[in-house]
This record gives sequence, C-alpha cells and structure tokens, in this order.
Amino acid sequence: KVLLASICVAYLAVKWTSPWFDAESLKGARVLVTGASTGIGEQMAYHYARFGAQIVITARREKVLQQVVEKCLSLGAQKALYIAADMSSESEPAQVVDFALEKLGGLDYLVLNHIGPSPFSMWTGDVDHTRWLMNVNFFSYIQMAWRGLAALEQSRGSLVIVSSLLGKMASPFVAPYTSTKFALNGFFGSLQHELAMNKSNVSLSICTLGLIDTDSAMEKVKGVISVPAYPASDAALNIIITGATRQLDLFYPWFTYVVAACKDMFPSVTNFIIQNSFTYSP
Ligand code: NDP
Repeated sequence: KVLLASICVAYLAVKWTSPWFDAESLKGARVLVTGASTGIGEQMAYHYARFGAQIVITARREKVLQQVVEKCLSLGAQKALYIAADMSSESEPAQVVDFALEKLGGLDYLVLNHIGPSPFSMWTGDVDHTRWLMNVNFFSYIQMAWRGLAALEQSRGSLVIVSSLLGKMASPFVAPYTSTKFALNGFFGSLQHELAMNKSNVSLSICTLGLIDTDSAMEKVKGVISVPAYPASDAALNIIITGATRQLDLFYPWFTYVVAACKDMFPSVTNFIIQNSFTYSP
C-alpha cells in the first residue's frame, strides 16, 4: 500500500509540476499527423484544427481523409491537406514527410500515430504478418522521424510518438502488435537520450495509452475483456498537450503509470491478473 501510494504521489508530483499549456501556441503551428482517417488520429486532427493549426493528415483511404480535411477546415484549421500513403511501403513514409515540409514550409509537430490492422488472437506462427506489421508500426516511424528531424531542429519542434501500455507490458493475443510497441519504446527512448546529450532543440514525447474507445479497439476486445475504455477525443487532446508542453512522456489514463511502475515489482501477481482478465477457454 505504501509503495502504491508513493507511486501515485510521484505521478501527481510530475503532473503538478508540468508546464502550463498555452493553446495560442498552436495557432498557425505546422503539424503532420499520421493515421488520421479514424480513431485517435482523426480526433487529434480536429483538436489541432480548433486550435487554428496548419495540418497535413495521412492514412491509406483517400475518401475518408478528404472528409476529415473538410471537417478540419470547418473547425478552424488555417490549412488542412491530406496525402494518401501506405506505411508498409519503403518509399511512402518519407514522401509523406516531404509533402508536409513542402506544403507547410517546415514542420513544428510530427505526430506518429498510425498502426496497421492486426488480429486479436493467439499467436499461430504468422511471421510474415509480424514482419509486415513491424514495417507499418515501427520502421515507417523511424524513417519519418529521421526525415523530419532537421526541420524540427530548425523550428524547435516536437516529435510525438503514440505508443501503448502494451509497449511496456506484454499481454496475450497481441504478440505482433506488442512487439512493434516495445520496439518503438526502445528506439525512441534511446533517441530521447541522444537528443538531450546533443542539446537538440527537438522535444520527443512518448505517449503510453491504455484502452481507448476507438472503433477498431472496441471491435477487438468486445466480449473478451472488461477493462474501462477511455474517450478517444480526450486521449487525443492529452497527446497534443504533451507535445505542446514538450514533456518526455504521457501516461493516459493516469493509472497506466501505476501499472507500468508495478508490473516488474510483482510479476506473478501481474501475470495472474493479466491471464485472468480475459474470457478464454482453450
Ligand atoms: P485506428 O485503428 O482507429 O486507426 C489507425 C489509423 O492508421 C487509421 O487512420 C488507418 O487508416 C491508419 N492505417 C492503418 N494501416 C495503415 C497503413 N498501412 N498505412 C498508413 N496508415 C494506416 O487506431 P487507434 O486510433 O485505436 O490507435 C491510434 C494509436 O493509439 C496507435 O498508435 C495505437 O497503437 C495507440 N493506442 C491505441 C489504443 C486503443 O485502445 N485504441 C490503446 C493503446 C495505444 P487507413 O485504414 O485509412 O489507412
């Protein structure tokens, strides 16, 4: 109990000492958001639009992107453009960054959020899918980050990585997905050190999310697990604030911080809870 209380107090102390968010700072900000046709990415696009940012969004489905762009303009975006791209391709991730740099004349926020679809099921040996998912959820991230880094350095910008509690704690039925998120946390955790040691102008935020009520997530966990899902719009706003206030990380909802901090202290308890949270019979 004392340990748990200390972890909660540590979390609150970090939150209370966080820098103040100035919404005005996003007016005219040049932003690229990936995976913005649906879910959290779509909600981020709408928030940036309300703050008066200039936005480029991307995903694969052009028609849906078109509708999101129209809504962004109606919500107050100074500029809203889209580019359809497949992040499993070798060349398209870099082309998306180049498009944003050209259309916006630079970049203040690079928000990497997309994920490829992946089954919610026991691992049955599909290595090809895992390799493909690594391309979409990991390799495209590091490619885009590298392509955008010089522009972010120039603008004193922010790189925001949307990750998951499953990037810190493995769970059943998501082996390929959780591997991609662990890879992201490892890579960008290392990059955070390097940017700091180089006294870089770029801030790098890694966002750890719990279950969020997007259609794709809800479809997967329906009837299998009963964990509360948090609203995508609120998750999106928290990610944006984390980037704008140049914080190293976000834990949303707050208790993901406690779960991540406790999981290695009590591994057998954590494993028991995880394995018994699912409705499953072999
Ligand atoms: P969604 O499944 O709702 O959205 C995924 C987005 O990625 C869509 O815009 C989709 O658009 C795009 N996308 C899919 N495949 C590709 C591809 N090959 N190339 C380019 N774009 C692609 O995801 P969420 O909003 O639920 O999740 C957003 C982020 O939040 C992810 O990083 C996820 O890991 C993280 N997260 C989500 C949680 C949740 O419970 N929802 C929990 C923890 C973390 P299109 O199909 O048009 O290409």
